[in-house]
Amino acid sequence: MKISKLLHDKEVTVSCELFPPKQGTELEKAKTVVRDMAALKPDFMSVTYGAGGTNSLFAAEIADEIQNGNGVTALAHLTCIAAERPQVLETLGRLRQMGIENILALRGDLPAAEGISLSSCYHHASDLMKEIRDFGGFCIGGACYPECHPESKSFDEDLDSLKRKEESGCDFLTTQMFFDNDILYNFLYRLLRAEIRIPVIAGIMPVTNAKQIRRITTLSGTLLPRRFRMIVDRFADDPASMKEAGIAYATEQIIDLLANGVNHVHIYTMNRPDIAGSILKNLSCIIGKS
Ligand code: FAD
Repeated sequence: MKISKLLHDKEVTVSCELFPPKQGTELEKAKTVVRDMAALKPDFMSVTYGAGGTNSLFAAEIADEIQNGNGVTALAHLTCIAAERPQVLETLGRLRQMGIENILALRGDLPAAEGISLSSCYHHASDLMKEIRDFGGFCIGGACYPECHPESKSFDEDLDSLKRKEESGCDFLTTQMFFDNDILYNFLYRLLRAEIRIPVIAGIMPVTNAKQIRRITTLSGTLLPRRFRMIVDRFADDPASMKEAGIAYATEQIIDLLANGVNHVHIYTMNRPDIAGSILKNLSCIIGKS
């Protein structure tokens, strides 16, 4: 099913995210994760894609396993920063053949290392969106940043990019993680004022271990509220407690979103069906899943 239809038809949706294996030897294990995650009955499952496209075959195979192996709608991420047109067209053809109907079209992060060649035809996500739109048949998603993309000089510049995404065929947006819901509410207000009308799915990251915390604190621009920092200070060295606290924090964030009318939530589950399952269990009455 197209995600645009899902967002239109269902009052509340909860989706989750997987990343594909780096090597073929990990494929079977990754498929077990897909099965365990699918058993939680998310509305759709997304599969990430390396910015350089090196894991593209595994990403497509995982999308196929999600949708055709387990009957859950798949959202395949696709990046363009290092991709040329024939490669993109080949990927689109492969996804179409598999019956995948949803693509999250992304630029990808600029490569840190020198010597990696950038795409000659796709400079921004909106260029890829136009390509997918012209190819036809896909529901197209895009990324958005409640705290502004780190490369954007201002919120207005960021909003201009989102407007371009909308004009290039983007059907829905998924947000970067955020830990303070007020930031999202403020962002939604900015979108409204800029007359950007695409549905927004709120991205929630359950932070359940110290490694994730270190990664997030090095991400520029993601605000860590005091309440979140207190949890990390108290529990980061105690893995079992940190996991429980991280699940509770994400659960509370989602309840507050739903209470404020933000009805579509994407959980960055990072291949952890146990964590996704705990959050969904906490929400089972509210979102009607058991
Ligand atoms: P763009 O929309 O191209 O924006 C990048 C920057 O360029 C922004 O500052 C924007 O304002 C500016 N810009 C855009 N268009 C123009 C224009 N026409 N002229 C001038 N400036 C412009 N990365 C991966 O590698 N794989 C993934 O699977 C992945 N999944 C993600 C999922 C989500 C929900 C999110 C939020 C991010 C994801 N990312 C992923 C990270 C993403 O690739 C990076 O954040 C990247 O830096 C920007 O991607 P974008 O698609 O938003 O790019």
